[in-house]
Amino acid sequence: MRADAHVRGLDSDDAAEDQAQQDPARPADAGSDGGERVQEVLRELRGVIPEARLLTDPAQLATYECDGLAAYRVTPALVVLADNADEVAATVRSCARHAVPFVARGSGTGLSGGALPHAEGVLVVTSRLRTLHQLRRADQRAVVDTGVINLQVTKAATPDGYYFAPDPSSQQICSIGGNVAENSGGAHCLKYGFTSGHVLSLDVVAPTGEQVTLGTEAPDAPGYDMVGAFVGSEGTLGVATSAVVRLTRLPEEVRTVLAGFETTDQAGAATSAIIAAGIVPAAIEIMDALAIEAAERAVSCGYPEGAGAVLVVELDGAAQEVEHEYAEVERICREAGTFEFRMAIDAAERAEIWKGRKSAFAAVGRISPDYIVQDGVVPRTALPEVLRRMGEISREKGVRVANVFHAGDGNLHPLVLFDAAEEGATERAEAVSGMILDLCIEHGGSITGEHGVGSDKARYMPRMFTDDDLDTMQLVRCAFDPEGIANPGKIYPTPRLCGERPRVRQDAHPAQQAGLAEIF
Ligand SMILES: Cc1cc2nc3c(=O)[nH]c(=O)nc-3n(C[C@H](O)[C@H](O)[C@H](O)COP(=O)(O)OP(=O)(O)OC[C@H]3O[C@@H](n4cnc5c(N)ncnc54)[C@H](O)[C@@H]3O)c2cc1C
Repeated sequence: MRADAHVRGLDSDDAAEDQAQQDPARPADAGSDGGERVQEVLRELRGVIPEARLLTDPAQLATYECDGLAAYRVTPALVVLADNADEVAATVRSCARHAVPFVARGSGTGLSGGALPHAEGVLVVTSRLRTLHQLRRADQRAVVDTGVINLQVTKAATPDGYYFAPDPSSQQICSIGGNVAENSGGAHCLKYGFTSGHVLSLDVVAPTGEQVTLGTEAPDAPGYDMVGAFVGSEGTLGVATSAVVRLTRLPEEVRTVLAGFETTDQAGAATSAIIAAGIVPAAIEIMDALAIEAAERAVSCGYPEGAGAVLVVELDGAAQEVEHEYAEVERICREAGTFEFRMAIDAAERAEIWKGRKSAFAAVGRISPDYIVQDGVVPRTALPEVLRRMGEISREKGVRVANVFHAGDGNLHPLVLFDAAEEGATERAEAVSGMILDLCIEHGGSITGEHGVGSDKARYMPRMFTDDDLDTMQLVRCAFDPEGIANPGKIYPTPRLCGERPRVRQDAHPAQQAGLAEIF
């Protein structure tokens, strides 16, 4: 991590320059015959995959030109709707043979442009890999294809008393492969952890086209943690085709409470006090006044009138333990100044409380024509200071910022509001968005909490990491992807180490020079 993290505001010149350097549509080696090479891949695949699942019609390709971050759009040269791991492998092998970049795509709900296609590359869509192979209650495991939808795993496991714990708000549509690649989180990750804690092994098509299994089902497998390297790698280390995931026992009791406060400071103080009391809620979320206003307008969720902030706390576990924790949470919230404290008495009321929170991103469209969903994380203790500074920046720049955050783990989702029709408004919003990320870094946090780096934040990576850090990460990538064809242009700010082809690098890696590491 950069010790003297260089912090600068993202002015529009910087943005333009960074964007130019970081053109995700540019092929890894920018050769002019990229189109011809894709045609070679297409010719080869015609003998292997039915024509109807090899898309080249511009109207069909348009469906795939962006993910959940619609601001960036690139039309892929070819979309392959793979049906199984062998088809994925055949596609990747062909790409490797012809040095054609490929991008994996699950459900396309990513918010950082990770599944943004490559203009002279192949988009490998996994959404037809939908088989849930096994649910093994005895050892709390599920074996699933990576195109399986997150919520589908929970729905299948619930009758047996289990569920899949990582729960991004997109869980109704996002794929297990996308969760793995993004190391997705969700409201309940405070207690249950991110996807990384719930994946035991992965079947992967490596960027060479080889089919390999990473990890084992053993709780503590010997050797390097290859699953750990793959989880969160955003499609840069290959395409996962199936996964063995951990199932979690459904809790005996769940209690969801909603507490209204006059200020976010009070809600934040209550959060800190709850954690300091030794309670680890399943979820602890804060929404500020603007976010509440948006949610009310969109879904009439009945949050306390006039609240400057609401706190949603969910407790789960053994009934007696939850009972005790509930009493503590109520006491703490009252001491912190809550003016309305209510508990959901049944599943319907619980859903009502969550409805406001879960709809918050989309709801912001009710109060602003355009907005940026930002994602950063800070240590929980830094939340009050970071929120205060965000308020100041928002006032100074005249840009409204609505806040929804996973308070328990310091994961922020500031929604930066603007009207693109107003001159300069987009640039001001971008600048504020960048300043918020700088704030996260300054306070010991990170430029992404759970939405990944993708195309969107690659330019921010040097604000957090030194050149040596980035080179070292690329060496890991190179071990999987020597030709740099797996999702090029993502995560890393500019083509580093010779255009994402680390082996072409002339000098020794700094760690080698320092005698700290060797390359075999
Ligand atoms: C409304 C909304 C709410 C959201 N809430 C949350 C949230 O609470 N927490 C959270 O963490 N995220 C959230 N997200 C972001 C997103 O849903 C997650 O990152 C999700 O895991 C992406 O899954 P996907 O299948 O849509 O992946 P995609 O968008 O298709 O791809 C995401 C990345 O994964 C790679 N990838 C996809 N499949 C594979 C594969 N099989 N093998 C290798 N790489 C692959 C892609 O190349 C890309 O880099 C939200 C998004 C939306 C739209």
